[in-house]
Parts: sequence; structure tokens; C-alpha cells
Amino acid sequence: MKKRVAILGATGSIGKSALDVISGDAGNFEIVLLSACTNKKALEQLKDKWPSAYCVLCGSDKKKLPVAIKNVQPDITINGISGSAGLEPSLAAIEAGSTLALANKETIVMAGELVLKTAKEKNVNIIPVDSEHSAVFNLIKAQSNDAVSEIILTASGGPFRKSSLQEMENASVKDALAHPTWNMGQKITIDSASMANKGLEIIEACYLFNMPPEKIKVVIHPQSIVHGMVRLSNGAVYAQLSKPDMRHPIAGALYWPETAPLIPGLLNFDFLTLEFEKPDTQKFPMLSLAVLAAKKGGLYTCAFNAANEIAVSLFLEQKIKFTDIWRITDRVLQADWAADSPDLETIIEADAKARETTKKAI
Ligand code: MG
Repeated sequence: MKKRVAILGATGSIGKSALDVISGDAGNFEIVLLSACTNKKALEQLKDKWPSAYCVLCGSDKKKLPVAIKNVQPDITINGISGSAGLEPSLAAIEAGSTLALANKETIVMAGELVLKTAKEKNVNIIPVDSEHSAVFNLIKAQSNDAVSEIILTASGGPFRKSSLQEMENASVKDALAHPTWNMGQKITIDSASMANKGLEIIEACYLFNMPPEKIKVVIHPQSIVHGMVRLSNGAVYAQLSKPDMRHPIAGALYWPETAPLIPGLLNFDFLTLEFEKPDTQKFPMLSLAVLAAKKGGLYTCAFNAANEIAVSLFLEQKIKFTDIWRITDRVLQADWAADSPDLETIIEADAKARETTKKAI
């Protein structure tokens, strides 16, 4: 039986990699749903290549995609949507009983408690596709769960790893988009430059692996070969290594619980140097702000995400400085975002309020 696959955000970098993996094994997969936000031309080209897929151009209509997911009932849904727009489609996939291969971190950062609770009720598996979380997911599966005492997420350090604070203050959009190892969409590339991306990943890891923020560490690893590590209670550290290629975590999720077939390009140790260093939280305050939001819980992580999303779009429009991203996020987090097990409506309201607060903070 072919696995019936939905790819959300099909024209983006995750979508392209997912289609590449599936193209190599069309006998085992059937694409049943493809969605894009605004790129109509690219979606039409995909429709030509995958004629059996139902194609949805969402635009600003938030209901279109959840309805399509409900009607199509995929076996597995790869959510590669960028930003908060990914939350409701994730919930729709879970409601439809579809395995969720999750690359959209906002789903968990905005609504971790609600999403995990709904997945448990519907008996749906969430398989992380973020490379770090995919690594940790597999490492934890290989151990007994309670033996893991610490999770270590690696970060490339982005384009400003060696820059001074002064240089970051004056960084242009082009400077911030020059990622040294990964080729990704604009939003996540800016998030990597500010390390807000790693902040979002800390929050994501807290929920996905049921770990307090104190037990999630970040280490800079410029080569992006080690994707994640776990430290066991006996002190031993296990790591997952591969080339920085999103086809690895995507294939891992698509074939799960089976082992994925070989992705060409084996890691060669003959000339491999792996470096690790401590992240500079003075230069990257988004890391500390994310930890603060994770500790406070409630709607703080939702507010952190919304503030960052607005600030990044304003930076891309050259309306604020790169370093204003964290200054503004810091200010938004000063407000009261406490809440007890918020439902979807409350989360969406808080997200809108945090966006308004962000715009006013400028
Ligand atoms: Mg990542």
C-alpha cells in the first residue's frame, strides 16, 4: 500500500526536498495534496508533475487548507509552512488522524500543550523534521527515555558568528541572509542569523521531548554535521551526524518507523574537522529570551514568536535595524502573557495581540 502524502508549503525549501525524496521512490508514495501560500506559478508546475495531487493555493484564506486536509485524509502530512500560518493546518492534520511530519516549529512554539494533547487524543504521531529534533528524536528512541538527562542542540552560529556587536548593529539584509551552511527560506535564515531560530528550537524541544528548558543546551558547531546530541544519566553523550541536507530528516519522517533508504552523499571522515564553541548570549539575546519564555510558559512562547515574526518582516523591509529584532522582542515579553492551558481561540487572540504590541513598540 502506498503512503498517501500531503505536502504543505510544497513550493518552499522543505517542500522541494520532500518532493525530491518521494520522486526517488514513487512506488511507495502517492502525493495526495500540495499547498502553497502565494506562489501560483510554482504550484501549477507541481500540478503538472503530480497530476493526482489536489492543489491548494491558500493566499490569506486560513480555512482553505484545513478543509482540504479534512477532505483528503492523508496518511502523513509534511508541514513545511513558514511561520504561524502553519499552526491550524497542523491541527487539521492531527484531527484527520494523519501522522504529522513537522518542520513548522511555530506549531509547537505557539500551541505546544494543545497540539500534543490533541495528538494524544487522536493517537497521532508527531515526527520532527527540524534537523536537530529529528536527530534527538532518533537518539531518544534508541535509548530508554528516562536515561536521557540532557539534550544538546547544535547551531551553525549563522553569518554573524565572528562579527562584533557593532557590526551586527549595522548589518544589512544581505549580510543577514548569507547563511554559511544551510540554504533555506528568508524568515528562517534571518532567524538563524539572530539565533532566534535556536531559541524557537529550545522551546520546541521542551514540548516534543518533555524536558525543562534547563536541560536543553545549545552549542555552536559551524560545520552543521552533528545535528543533535543526548547526554545520558551515566554521562555518555550520543550524537547524530550527517551532511547538512534536509532530505535526511524528511526521509526519516516519511519512512518512519522503517529506516529510510540511502540519501546519496555519504559523510567522509578523511578530512573532517568538527568544532564546538559556546554561544555568546550578549551577541545573541534571542537565545536567553526564548529560554525565559519557555520557563514562563503560558502564552509567552506564542508572544516571543509573534514579536520575532513581525520584527523580522520589518527588518526585511529595512524599517528597523537587525539588533532591533531582539530589543523589540524583549519589550513585548515585558507584558503579561500568563495563561493556563490556552485553547486555540485564546492562542490566536494572543498571537494577534502580540503582533499589535510589537508594531506599537517600534
Ligand atoms: Mg533546525
